[in-house]
Amino acid sequence: MRRGLVLMGINNIFTVEEEGTGALYECRIKGKVLEDAVGDYNPLAPGDRVEFEEDPIEEHKGSIERRLERKNAFVRYNLKRKAPQTLAANVDLLVCLTSPDQPPFRPRFIDRVLVAAELVEGAEALVLLNKKDLGVPPEVARRLSLYADIGYHVRMISVKTGEGIADLVAFFQGKTVVLVGQSGVGKSSLLNTLVPGAGQRVGEISRKYNRGSHVTNYSRLFHARGFEVIDTPGVREFVPYGTSSRDVGWCFREFEPYAKECAYPSCQHMDEPDCAVKEAVMKGRIDPERYESYLRLREELELLEQEEYG
Ligand code: GDP
Ligand code: ZN
Repeated sequence: MRRGLVLMGINNIFTVEEEGTGALYECRIKGKVLEDAVGDYNPLAPGDRVEFEEDPIEEHKGSIERRLERKNAFVRYNLKRKAPQTLAANVDLLVCLTSPDQPPFRPRFIDRVLVAAELVEGAEALVLLNKKDLGVPPEVARRLSLYADIGYHVRMISVKTGEGIADLVAFFQGKTVVLVGQSGVGKSSLLNTLVPGAGQRVGEISRKYNRGSHVTNYSRLFHARGFEVIDTPGVREFVPYGTSSRDVGWCFREFEPYAKECAYPSCQHMDEPDCAVKEAVMKGRIDPERYESYLRLREELELLEQEEYG
């Protein structure tokens, strides 16, 4: 049995890189080996390690027999397919790429990615502001320092001028890094800086497997110098998966010390009496915009739950 690393998967054909040799195999999943992935239309993700068998006839084709144990997985809820979608596996660092302008800075989007990051066991998160050359307005700087205060990594770069890139590469060393961002923030530009030629390769694969349809709907792993990068689809909306509307408050990490003091054990921090979270918001100890992000996400998850189960 051979072992390999999943680089990407399109339409249930997975590109697997063999351990040791680096040879690439086009693999299908054999039988129902991935029973634990029920409900996920994307049972294997870039970063997964698998065992596979080489096809006896066709060269560089194979079938995946087993997925090795995952350290963790980064999952979103795919609103179009109404199903969870695993975007990456075995992640060390989740990078939420953003920009001060063009497109506008969207703290609510970042908050949702950070919620998803909290659900990736053992992974850290970085809020990465690109396009620093456009200038950083005070409200953006304030928000970034809030993220730093509550314990996330925060950095600023400009792919255009190269500012901050060397430090970023140093920070990435030895890690499997996942890039997430809304379209237009410069994700492809950053990827091309980290992995020269990555853009062209995506284009080639798109033509080969997908006949021109949007390959950007898939994640893909690239080897960079001293680290791995997993690029994920640029999206407009991001919905985390793996928590419920009732529990999502625990994914706002600065709420936790207060949430433990709420009178109701399953307090939703809405209209309940003696809510320590609301009190902390009132006293300025929790940022009101983060609280607003929480309320909106909680509400959206509740609607999705009703759609799904109602
Ligand atoms: P993606 O949609 O996130 O993949 O974004 P792209 O990499 O395609 O970049 C979107 C636009 O932003 C392009 O016009 C880039 O040239 C531009 N861009 C990328 N990085 C920077 C940067 O650091 N500064 C500025 N001013 N523009 C940038
Ligand atoms: Zn409460």
